[in-house]
Amino acid sequence: MTSLREELRANTLDLPNPARLNADQVRGGHCCWCNTALTAETAVDLGERRHPTHWFPRCCPTCIRAADHAHVGMCETCVETPAACQTAATLKQLVREHSRTPPPGPRPIAYCNWHRGLSDTALLVRITEEGSGGENGMLYACQNCRTQHGLTPLAEHTT
Ligand SMILES: [Zn+2]
Ligand SMILES: [Zn+2]
Ligand SMILES: [Zn+2]
Repeated sequence: MTSLREELRANTLDLPNPARLNADQVRGGHCCWCNTALTAETAVDLGERRHPTHWFPRCCPTCIRAADHAHVGMCETCVETPAACQTAATLKQLVREHSRTPPPGPRPIAYCNWHRGLSDTALLVRITEEGSGGENGMLYACQNCRTQHGLTPLAEHTT
């Protein structure tokens, strides 16, 4: 990742003038474009700058996407030879890094029919063994029991 930041610093990515930004934006706590408060998950690190002042531009995922679009629209290199533009490649990389779907919320707790207890890793499984029993064939197994009994969660079946 270091090389990516180096790349950004060397690049002429259009950043707002830090002199016109508020203290939160200058220290990277807020998006340097839209002033949204950032968290560790949402902040896109644009690389520490030392000019014109020492500041830490960071932005939100929405703005990095907008910056990517804006760049492609006004960059001559991107129009003529898209593959040759390092700024575009860097922006795309940042967009990709920050467009991951957020981690799922707390898992629902379900009853594991195998060890007969509640578990937060229990998933609906297809029965491949006989004698396992269960209501309506709807059986849940926790991660441990799935490994032990060679059970496959229904969601992982492709057909
Ligand atoms: Zn923003
Ligand atoms: Zn470009
Ligand atoms: Zn279990």
